[in-house]
Amino acid sequence: MRDSVWADLAPLCARLGDLYRDLHTHPELSTQEHRTALRLAEELRPLGYEVTTQVGGTGVVGVLRNGGGPVVMLRADFDALPVEEKTGLPYASTARATGADGREVPVMHACGHDMHATCLVGAATLLAGAKQTWSGTLLVVFQPAEELALGARAMVDDGLFRRFPVPDIVLGQHVGPLPAGVIGYGSGPIMAASDSVQVTLHGRGGHGSRPETTVDPVLMAANVVTRLQGIVAREVPPAETAVVTVGRLQAGTKDNIIPDTAELGINMRTYSPETRTLVHRAIERVIRGEATAGAATREPELDWNVSAPLLVSDPAATASVVTAFSEHFGEQRVQPIPPVSASEDVGVFGAAANAPTVFWFWGGLDADTFAAAVRDGDTGSLPGNHSPYFAPVVEPTLSTGVEALAVGGLTWLGKPAGTSGQEVRQAGAQ
Ligand code: ZN
Ligand code: ZN
Repeated sequence: MRDSVWADLAPLCARLGDLYRDLHTHPELSTQEHRTALRLAEELRPLGYEVTTQVGGTGVVGVLRNGGGPVVMLRADFDALPVEEKTGLPYASTARATGADGREVPVMHACGHDMHATCLVGAATLLAGAKQTWSGTLLVVFQPAEELALGARAMVDDGLFRRFPVPDIVLGQHVGPLPAGVIGYGSGPIMAASDSVQVTLHGRGGHGSRPETTVDPVLMAANVVTRLQGIVAREVPPAETAVVTVGRLQAGTKDNIIPDTAELGINMRTYSPETRTLVHRAIERVIRGEATAGAATREPELDWNVSAPLLVSDPAATASVVTAFSEHFGEQRVQPIPPVSASEDVGVFGAAANAPTVFWFWGGLDADTFAAAVRDGDTGSLPGNHSPYFAPVVEPTLSTGVEALAVGGLTWLGKPAGTSGQEVRQAGAQ
């Protein structure tokens, strides 16, 4: 009976291509996604969902009640990035916006969140059109501000799980540099915890010709940068993994002036709470130690201002979804992949709802281009997320993403009364 779910897939995806291109041409920065949110709400309403906008800022929630059974949450993010698009596509973005710091920036859907949102509209459409094949409640969540790792928390804090049904399972997906049509999955920790610290080192400025009268914060900062490299190399156990990156290093105004201060912006990525604590402590120790060694005039200032939690794809729940994917797509299109060092805040929902999260990746790169890069040993040159050249090929990326979310949802939704759906429910209840 569930085969009927896919009857309208081809015409639906043809229509959704227009929605995707529209969202791609009109990207909006994190927390500013007003047009996109309106557009998504407009898509959901005629399908019979109870739609609520402005949840946790610009978040959009749709609820479709269809008898007894589990509550299944499907999530997509929809914010864009301050990147200038260079894809040359006919629907490329030329948008500009004012960032949080008041400066004008170019805006691009360089992480594919436009594809995520479009695919969620697609899955919501398919499942609403096939209500006779399932039973339960669908909770469709369009989350803003993922790139700031703020949106999921903002929606939860705005009463997402008080105002709407609490899910038994949270499902989501991310498009990335895999061949289009292919799904990549991991089990357990699949995306890193991310923590950032802003550091100010204090010295004593003066004339560049008389360093003996100064305390040079530039040298201090340089020593911090090199000393930090020892954390992953010498302190993290070899079987564990972590990343420490200094992405910002700023000091001074002129070559012959020693400045008063130097600033660093440091980001760390880890895959276990133990390593997270270890790296966090080591970064602080190195900064304070180098400040002491450099005779800093004041204690350094450390502001841990951004963090995204470790993303764990629940192993038992992931196994159920992967089995369903293999049955639907065929095993050759469903591949295990190693953990990703980027981060995601989707795990905030599962943690808040006390429900397992299953999250997977799917490909957006032209399959021939990908195969050629593999043959040349040059996959590193393929545009990945956040690149100004990153834009998924619309098909088969779009239809694969729609199908994956719908298959994922159906893995957990019960079968209507009178059919033998209990085994599906039980698989979903572990
Ligand atoms: Zn991103
Ligand atoms: Zn993303």
